[in-house]
Parts: sequence; structure tokens; C-alpha cells
Amino acid sequence: MSSNVTIGEEALNKRAEERFVRKTARISAKYLRSVREMNNVPEAMAPFWNVLEDVYVNNKKIFEESALKTVGTYCVMVPEELVYAAGGKPVRICSGNHVALQLGEEILPKDACPLVKAAAGSIMPNSMAYLGDCRYSVIPVTCDCKRKLVDKLREFHSVHSMRIPSASQDDGSIEEYVTELYKLKDYLEENLGEKITYKKLYDAIGETYATALETERFFRLKSRFPSVIHGIHSIMLFNAYTYMRPEEWRGHLSVLNDELEKRIDSGVSAARKNTPRIMLTGSPMIFPNVKIPYIIESSGGVVVADETCIGERGYSDVPVINDCSMDGLMHALAVKAIRPCTCPVFVDTDKRLYRIKKLIERNQVDGVIYHVLRGCLVYDYEYQRIEDMLESMGVKVLRVETDYSEEDVEQLKIRLEAFLEVIKFSK
Ligand code: SF4
Ligand code: SF4
Repeated sequence: MSSNVTIGEEALNKRAEERFVRKTARISAKYLRSVREMNNVPEAMAPFWNVLEDVYVNNKKIFEESALKTVGTYCVMVPEELVYAAGGKPVRICSGNHVALQLGEEILPKDACPLVKAAAGSIMPNSMAYLGDCRYSVIPVTCDCKRKLVDKLREFHSVHSMRIPSASQDDGSIEEYVTELYKLKDYLEENLGEKITYKKLYDAIGETYATALETERFFRLKSRFPSVIHGIHSIMLFNAYTYMRPEEWRGHLSVLNDELEKRIDSGVSAARKNTPRIMLTGSPMIFPNVKIPYIIESSGGVVVADETCIGERGYSDVPVINDCSMDGLMHALAVKAIRPCTCPVFVDTDKRLYRIKKLIERNQVDGVIYHVLRGCLVYDYEYQRIEDMLESMGVKVLRVETDYSEEDVEQLKIRLEAFLEVIKFSK
């Protein structure tokens, strides 16, 4: 009797997993098709779409030929260099998957933010091939949602949690984080079975450094007027980063940058001169939850900048080594992870205000969309100060609260179109 029940349950789980993969593929394919059909898409975007397609539509195991062990990470503040130096491959598990969110709701409270519900839901069915061999996760405890996620995910695989200092600017915070990095080093060495030597870590930092330089070249090209690339394409290529090795991603980005330079020389652009230039900020937008940038760009705007951790925030800073010892490398990683990070989980808001101001100036931004994932209090807390600053600068702002569902797309479209019209009118 009991073995029949087990077989029945297994069949049910199998069917649920297949449904999960099918639905994920359908939503992801829809967005990939739409963004590929936009005007003036650079040819060099193909490798980035392909990897997202392999992961989300074809459900392929992306690191098949490699001996690397996948380590799930849940924040840009987890230094990927340590994972690489331990012979692992960091894969960001923060999820934008609506189907996973529905699964996550079965084990997490309804009011938890969509990102953590979807992250839990992605791990649960064990059916996405790219997560198939992910037996370890590293979760920095940045907010209450992530704090409780640690415990939940421990039911599924090994989880290492990290304490994040509450302030980002004082020296004490850096020392606090260096201590956390040593604990992470021990965890990775113990579980991945490889010693993190000075040389391995130094080489991994060198990779990040080279990637940040190529990324900075991309940001310079992207900030051109009129825009040479759609913002949603930029968001997609940063989403693709987590499923590639850094040198591979950097190589594709370099080809894209060359193509963008040629476009500038021959006067090809992705948007007209009078197109409203929009900046996105707020809670992370992770593929396939790209509905906001897609609506903006299919409604007559262009996203020229973003202050989000799946976009520009996570990729432009470089680790600076002042002391050639293991401790010097750990300090370089801690400073890079904490000092420039403008995430509102830190008590200080001034740094984020300054960064937003600089991005607006650099990218000639006309309006800001402030994205709040329902249940994400930390971003909502900072809204008022940012709105006040933008008003004083004469920059229009619209706060948009949503989750991953597609049900509010029409309503969002109406609001975003009206916002773009106001900007066009005042330009
Ligand atoms: S929003 Fe903040 S806490 Fe969340 S992943 Fe991004 S940097 Fe980390
Ligand atoms: S910072 Fe916001 S989006 Fe990120 S896990 Fe916490 S509540 Fe969710």
C-alpha cells in the first residue's frame, strides 16, 4: 500500500515538474521572441539570447562539459571570485520566474517578496537542468525575506548564510565582512574539496577586473545620444552573465561593443532623438520578469540606464588590491562588495541618491521608473527621499509596484504610456 502511494506521489511530482518546465519555457520564449523582433537589434546579441534560451526554454544543463560545481548565490555581495577560486561556478539563483513563485508560495508566506518565493520555488522541483547539480547555496542575510529563506532552503540543500554589515562606509564594516569572507572560504573549501590559494584567488580577481573594464566600455557606448542599443537588450545581457564563464561573456561583450562602435560611426541608433530616455531603479528585475523594461520600450521610451543589482550596479566596480597577501585579496573583495553597493539594505541612503544623480547626468535621463516588488520594504522605504531629490532636479518619476504576474500588464501599460506622454510633452 505504502509503496503504491510512493509511486503515485512520484508520478504526480514528475507531472508537476514537467508542467513547471513547460510553463517556464512558454513565458521565457515569449519575451525572448519579442525582444529579438525589436528594431535595430545588434547581431552580437545572439550569444546572450542563446544562453537564456538554453536555460529557460530548452532546459539545458549549461555547464555539462565542465567539472565545475554549481554554487547558487543570492546577491551581488557574494564575491564570485571566491567561488571560482574554489573550483566552483557561481549561478545567481535570485529568480524572476512566475511559475517558480507560485510553487514558492506553497512553503513561504504570501506576503514575502516575489524574488524569494521564486528562488525557493526554483529549487523545490529540482527540474530546471541548470540547477540540477546545485547542491550548495550562499545567502547573504540582507533583509528579513532572505533571513527566513536560509532555513527553508536548508530543507533542500546545503546553505551557507553570511552576515551583511548594516553600514557600508565605515572601516568596521569592511573588517566585519572580511571575517564573513573567511567563513565563506572555509565553507567552499570544505564542500567543493579544493583549497583556495593566493594564486587561484588572484587569477579570479584578474578575470573580474578584465570583465569590469569591458563592461565600462559598454556603459560608455550605451550612454550615447541618441541611444545605440535598447535598454532591455542590456538588461538581458547582464542576466545572461550568470550562465556563462566570465571570459566567455566578456568575449561576447567585446564583439557587441565593436558592433556598437561601428553603428555609432555609421549613424545607426536604436531610438530617435526625441524618444524619452528612462532610467530604472528599485527592486531587481530578473529574467523572465522583464515586463517593465519591455513595456517602456514597446510604448515609445528607451531605457538608457538602470540602478539595479541585476544591471549596472553589479558589474562596474573593480576589486583593488593594495596588499599582496591572502588578507589583502580578502580586503579587496570586501571593499568591492560593500563600499560601492547602493542597495537599500544598508542604513545610508545618501550614496544611492548620489549614484542615481550621477547616472541621470551621465545618461541624459528624462524620467525615472521606481520599481517596487510587492513585499520589498527596503526599496519602498527609500522612495520618498529619491522622489524629493528627483523633483528638485526637475526629473519626472513614477513609482510602480508589481510582482511577477502578467495580469497587470495592461494596467502597467496604461500608466507607463501616460508617463512617457508627459515626458514627450515637456521635452
Ligand atoms: S537588492 Fe540588494 S540584497 Fe537584493 S540581491 Fe540586490 S544587492 Fe543583494
Ligand atoms: S531586498 Fe527586496 S527584492 Fe531583495 S530579497 Fe529582500 S525583499 Fe526581496
